[in-house]
Parts: sequence; structure tokens; C-alpha cells
Amino acid sequence: MRFLSLIGLAAAFTPYQSDLVLAALAKFKPPEFTTVIDSPLRNQIAFTNGQRDTVVINGRRLECCSRTMANVLNHELAHVNGRSHNLFPVPGDIMSYAVTLDQASQVVDDPIIW
Ligand SMILES: [Zn+2]
Repeated sequence: MRFLSLIGLAAAFTPYQSDLVLAALAKFKPPEFTTVIDSPLRNQIAFTNGQRDTVVINGRRLECCSRTMANVLNHELAHVNGRSHNLFPVPGDIMSYAVTLDQASQVVDDPIIW
């Protein structure tokens, strides 16, 4: 019973977001059992865990912004595939990508998919 109640707290991507995840997995080809999950996050929009096998995304914050979500997936799956952040900004490189927030800390949709 306790287990079932915990499942009720899990978040779920919208169907469109799930399609974006599947498209990103097909495009960037991380290891087969890479997991991308939706979860509310307090101070982050997304991260890749230390084992680089799980990406956690705050899907609700990205419901507004499909291009931003595609770019976040590109960035996080690059981490899964072994890349780290650039030490210095590299224009156009996904490892220099950052989500844009407005003055109210709401996500702004990117004008392009990187
Ligand atoms: Zn990163």
C-alpha cells in the first residue's frame, strides 16, 4: 500500500514531451537503458545523475517550451554520452547551453533548436 501511494506522487511528461524524449533518444543514441524521468525539482530544471544513466527533467517547467525542452534533452544526453560542460563558452556548442529565464524565473522558449 505504501508503494502504491508513492507512485501517485510521480510526475509524468505530457504526451508531446514523451515524443520529444523518444526523438532525442533516437537522435543522440545514449546507452540502451538510459532513463529520462519527469520530476518536480526545487532549484533545477534538469540534471544527469552521477552514474550518467538517468536524466531528471522538471517537465512541468518546460510545458511552455518545446524547443527549450529539446535543447535540454540534447544537453543532458550529451552528459550521458560522456561530455562535460565547456570551461569557457563555445558558441553553438550544446555544452555551453543554458536555459533562459525571464525576470519572474519562468522558462523562456528558445528561438531555435540547437
Ligand atoms: Zn549540464
